[in-house]
Amino acid sequence: MRASQYLIATQKETPSDAEVISHQLMIRAGMIRKLAAGLYSWLPLGLKVLRKVEAIVREEMNRAGAQEVLMPVTQPAELWQESGRWEQYGPELLRMQDRHSRPFCLGPTHEEVITDLVRNQIRSYKQLPANFYQIQTKFRDEIRPRFGIMRAREFLMKDAYSFHTDQASLQETYDIMHKAYSAIFTRLGLDFRPVLADTGSIGGSHSHEFHVLAASGEDDIAFSTESDYAANVEMAEAIAPEGSRPSPSETMQEVATPGQHSIEQVSTFLDVPAASVVKTLIVQGDDEEAPLVALVVRGDHELNDIKAEKLHGIAAPLTFASEEQIRANLGCSVGSIGPVGLKIPVIVDHSAAHLADFVCGANRDGVHLTGVNWERDCPIDDVADIRNVVPGDPSPDGKGLLEIKRGIEVGHIFQLGTKYSEAMNAKVLNEEGREQVMIMGCYGIGVSRVVASAIEQNHDENGIIWPDALAPFQVALIPINIQKSEQVRETCEKLYTQLQERGLDVLFMDEEKARLGAMLADVELVGIPHRVVIGDRGLENGEVEYRHRRETENRTIGLNDIIEFLT
Ligand code: ATP
Ligand code: MG
Ligand code: MG
Ligand code: MG
Repeated sequence: MRASQYLIATQKETPSDAEVISHQLMIRAGMIRKLAAGLYSWLPLGLKVLRKVEAIVREEMNRAGAQEVLMPVTQPAELWQESGRWEQYGPELLRMQDRHSRPFCLGPTHEEVITDLVRNQIRSYKQLPANFYQIQTKFRDEIRPRFGIMRAREFLMKDAYSFHTDQASLQETYDIMHKAYSAIFTRLGLDFRPVLADTGSIGGSHSHEFHVLAASGEDDIAFSTESDYAANVEMAEAIAPEGSRPSPSETMQEVATPGQHSIEQVSTFLDVPAASVVKTLIVQGDDEEAPLVALVVRGDHELNDIKAEKLHGIAAPLTFASEEQIRANLGCSVGSIGPVGLKIPVIVDHSAAHLADFVCGANRDGVHLTGVNWERDCPIDDVADIRNVVPGDPSPDGKGLLEIKRGIEVGHIFQLGTKYSEAMNAKVLNEEGREQVMIMGCYGIGVSRVVASAIEQNHDENGIIWPDALAPFQVALIPINIQKSEQVRETCEKLYTQLQERGLDVLFMDEEKARLGAMLADVELVGIPHRVVIGDRGLENGEVEYRHRRETENRTIGLNDIIEFLT
């Protein structure tokens, strides 16, 4: 590709809403542009990378025996009513009507559509097992789209769905998918871990998430110091041995009763995973009509900007207190503080410190910064049964202790069982000639999220450092003084053709007016692995200058050797 005919939309400024490095670099390198919250256009350079991820995912899915299909993004409500999710799904499901007032939604996932397709196409056990996948746009109306394409509303997912007549067959496909995922993330050059996952609201029995390790990750993962045990903390908690928790602080009075607000209600209002809402409590106050509510939320959920209206129905009005104010007054090690209301303090513990290490409290007068004794006045109830995995806890497999790292969820595999097939009456004739409900598995990869995850793991102060498999171009050809030197121009043109003939994707920085410094900075920012600088002075000695993106020094290489060197 010639830079003169290619949109290289690099920029110096970091957008103010870009909190994580991948978001900043994707904007600065001209990979994506924001259209609206959680909606991004992919520019040519970004799309090239996205397509590379897609190609690897497709190859490995095909190799694993899955068949590619493509289903509509727009889905009729009837299917969701059949599965029961039309009511259950909540506001992440974008619902709409067509001109005949028929209800539809934009697919956040495709269990219903594939189950409908398969129940109409597959009749006999002889056609099973079957595994269908697509690489398709998903829409989820995330309450807080953030981190660019990492948590977008519209994003690209590879989703696969397998169908079986027995559990053994499902397990077999599940294991094949597990291996295929490991192959995919290895090829993508990512530092990843498969971890045991909670089956959560989808139901089903068995699940793994694939996490890319990165400090900016939104999930906590628990690892054993001595074995291969790895689980997301929700899962580690669910099976943590009893009695491994510390007992609650003696100073807390146990006068509160469990909150009347369901965890689902709270998690929907706050848009945090249900598993993160440890407990809702009603803290005893002197006004029985208006009990005080305290929430304990685990995980790094930045709730500060949640509008008071979002919490309407739990309690209102809200006031806000700064983290320092709370920290000073609670004297406790809270990670960050959400909206602290007249009636709802939300204490967020993203460092996963022992719950007993901090006190959550509410006071009718609000977060009173005038001397309330929080420990005395604002007790919480039986914290002993609140499970909260922390570093140093014994590993649930009995081997070693747990350490906790942050991860970005890039893949998720799931044994669904008969949840959808039963609700939607998806049956086949089995060997005995009797009708039998199919057993299902589902397997997702956040194709677009992978791009951001790769950048989180591969960058320096000058920009992106692509793993080879993902680089938008392999080689950048950079001429010095192309507008003046015929020798430089001719050499570059020749190299450009020869490298392409060898199958290399080359970006030829052929713009006449481009300054050398700016070209070098762009090539580093964009993360092209190999760069070759060609100038008169080097050519006089029959040499060019080469540098790998991961290196800091130039190397001098003979003009006659450079092609061999790069291929
Ligand atoms: P998360 O916990 O991050 O919200 P999820 O568990 O809701 O993700 P799944 O339903 O498991 O997501 O979807 C499969 C994959 O799709 C996820 O593992 C993730 O990589 C990707 N994904 C999910 N939501 C988004 C999003 N809003 N933007 C980009 N990728 C996403
Ligand atoms: Mg989600
Ligand atoms: Mg998840
Ligand atoms: Mg998931």
